[in-house]
Amino acid sequence: MNNIPKIPTIFLDRDGVLNNNSELYYTTKKEDFVWVDGVFENLRALISAGYQLVIISNQGGVAKGNFSIEELNELNAWIYKTLIGQKIEIKAIYCCPHHNHVGNCFCRKPKSLFIERAIHRYHVDVNRSVMIGDSQRDIGAAEMVGVKGILVEANKNWKNSIEQLLK
Ligand SMILES: [Mg+2]
Ligand SMILES: [Zn+2]
Repeated sequence: MNNIPKIPTIFLDRDGVLNNNSELYYTTKKEDFVWVDGVFENLRALISAGYQLVIISNQGGVAKGNFSIEELNELNAWIYKTLIGQKIEIKAIYCCPHHNHVGNCFCRKPKSLFIERAIHRYHVDVNRSVMIGDSQRDIGAAEMVGVKGILVEANKNWKNSIEQLLK
């Protein structure tokens, strides 16, 4: 196991980073999913710079009964396929279906369980990895395990925020 090279990784929040997300409602269907400006170009640039991509998302609407785990899985499959069509491979999509209004769990950001899981499974080089998120919860989860966070403005092209990573 030790001879497997460690891979720099970009952890991506979904809503506000990939999906132009209104705070008013949950995005549950592909028809409501609006890609953030520049996101395909930005993800391709990160892959070209040697990063692998992992999505880590809180989807508490499942616990609250707003949508089902099947709908979430279907949307995730569509996200994965759409990105493949854009020549972007996502290694994994981790979603926490729980919500702290309903009960406790170990995976809702700012908890770091999914990031830790991905670190082991995908041989992540922690020191050269970054979480891109639009919420302090995203950054907190990453920093808990020593991954640097980049806080971006929700629903805006984050091209300028990744310039340093592409050098
Ligand atoms: Mg977000
Ligand atoms: Zn959870």
